[in-house]
Amino acid sequence: MTIMKRENIPRLTDTDILPVTLADIRRASARIDGRVARTPLVRSSTLSGLAGQPVHLKLETLQPIGAFKLRGAMNAILSLDDACRRQGLVTASTGNHGRAVAYAASELGVPAIICMSSLVPANKVDAIRALGAEVHIVGVSQDDAQEEAERLVVERGLTSIPPFDNVDVVAGQGTIGLEIISDSPDLAAVLVPLSGGGLAGGIAVAVKALRPQARLIGISMERGAAMNASITAGRPVAVREEETLADSLGGGVGLKNRITFALCSSLLDDVILLSEDEIAQGIRHAWHQEALTVEGAGAVGIAAILAKKVELPGPAAIIVSGANIDPKLHQRILEGAEA
Ligand SMILES: *Cc1c(COP(=O)(O)O)cnc(C)c1O
Repeated sequence: MTIMKRENIPRLTDTDILPVTLADIRRASARIDGRVARTPLVRSSTLSGLAGQPVHLKLETLQPIGAFKLRGAMNAILSLDDACRRQGLVTASTGNHGRAVAYAASELGVPAIICMSSLVPANKVDAIRALGAEVHIVGVSQDDAQEEAERLVVERGLTSIPPFDNVDVVAGQGTIGLEIISDSPDLAAVLVPLSGGGLAGGIAVAVKALRPQARLIGISMERGAAMNASITAGRPVAVREEETLADSLGGGVGLKNRITFALCSSLLDDVILLSEDEIAQGIRHAWHQEALTVEGAGAVGIAAILAKKVELPGPAAIIVSGANIDPKLHQRILEGAEA
């Protein structure tokens, strides 16, 4: 008897019945064309040498806000009808998603309010304001800011743009998958940072539809990997949030997750977890060997290769998802400070 290996099962029919399709991603690609960067896929000679296979870096660090989240936010805002756009947008994210909504809204002339608590550092508040958004400072926790965002949805009819669990957001992130297959059609593996799963889910739909034999590998930190715990449990579960160098990978998947849990649990071939030390090595390697400033979340693919936690069956693409690291923290990591 032969046992059918998971990677040998044709997946195209699977991707057809999932909540986001290749057609959604192709439409997103046409919609956001010219409004986000078409980022390069560059070969890394040091990582290729280490892995024994060609390794390419997809440089989402080069997006205008320094992270891929612009793709999903831009696609979601462009997909809204005129009435919703006139009414305006709201989100409570102060990280890369908040920056993406602020930037995309301002580019498209749509009003946007970013809600944050009074504990958010002034430099982050200023950065969001500089991107053209209105800032509401409310309460003393992320939950307070989230409540304010929900109040504005109800009372002012603003549209909330979710950070990952939304078809248009996932389709926008999935455009990365179209680009890497177009630039490197023989990919055997794709290494993707994994948090809420919008990035990994979107890329997986595109890559599995166009190149079913490619392995999709999600990478999270050991500290608080909510999607990994959810895939293991077979349903969305909450995990304790902990501080991590990969701060953009923190947070849960949402207990009422509708889209990204289904995508990640059916399309990811593997999830790898990294220690804080391993993530720090990835940040250092990016700087010294690749001449790149990369935040912790963006460095996990590089870190997984350095830590020899992934074996590549052939040419691979690593999604280098973001650059936005506090300069002082970056300096301390480069000086070798322990994580
Ligand atoms: C949001 C983010 C991720 C994770 O994306 P999800 O869609 O939440 O899985 C990875 N890297 C960076 C830089 C991010 O901002």
